[in-house]
Amino acid sequence: MALSKAWGNRFPVGVREIAQEVSAKHVDPISKIESLPVDDEEFEGVLIQNGNSKKWGLGYSAHIREDGKINFTIAHEFGHYMLHRQEHNQFACTDDDLRNFPYATKDARNLEQEANEFASYLLMPANDFRAQIDGQRVNIDLISHCANRYATSLAASILKLIDFIDRPVAVIVSENGVVRWSRSSQHALRRGLRFKRGSSIPAGSITMRCAQIGVSMNCSQGQVHDQAIWSKTMTIVESAIAQPNYRTVFTVLESTALGHYKLIEGDLDDVRDSFDHFRSYSR
Ligand SMILES: [Zn+2]
Repeated sequence: MALSKAWGNRFPVGVREIAQEVSAKHVDPISKIESLPVDDEEFEGVLIQNGNSKKWGLGYSAHIREDGKINFTIAHEFGHYMLHRQEHNQFACTDDDLRNFPYATKDARNLEQEANEFASYLLMPANDFRAQIDGQRVNIDLISHCANRYATSLAASILKLIDFIDRPVAVIVSENGVVRWSRSSQHALRRGLRFKRGSSIPAGSITMRCAQIGVSMNCSQGQVHDQAIWSKTMTIVESAIAQPNYRTVFTVLESTALGHYKLIEGDLDDVRDSFDHFRSYSR
């Protein structure tokens, strides 16, 4: 059953309320969800069980400023609660963990990927998400629209899009002109559009100008580039926005090749819907 049918088309999903209401049906509920002051900037979220009461506490870093990122972190930890709490009594998750998404070549079972998939489908049901991006160009404006609709982060929205889009798209988050992390769609990987952590942002790119100019720089609709800047074989549209809170620039690259959006692995709503996770795991 699709999540959108279960709860109507009301977005954003109230993830705090859902986590507390659903867990309250169990003998070991999530008793609190709160912001935690921590020194470690890599730390994002934690789920930990009290050894005596057996109740769980869910925390997210006080460093996180955006409501969308807080929501995704809560949904991720709730994913650990629903899927993994019989296996561990403590989950401590980093920024890297919250970007660890499965791809076509899935290796060993990975708890972080499972928690992210759970969070992604809980907050952004596939059918509704597909309706938002159908026929649209992929740029920061579109990703911002999705992030606002689902009250999640830019990163969570683009990573979901990249998971199933049928054309070359890549996201890069960079700091001082150096790639901090990046992800490319299957079609982008096949055509060599990939960026390693630590590699340099090309001169002449909007991203580099954003890094130099800072907060006032926002090219969210995108600009068509000469082929040589980002790709030798494809014409690329680059959109970018400075994120001064994190000293980073968020970049979206899309090939101008025409294409239609479709799910790669059939109807994901049917096979990986979070609502089904609820029904199978909440008993
Ligand atoms: Zn985790």
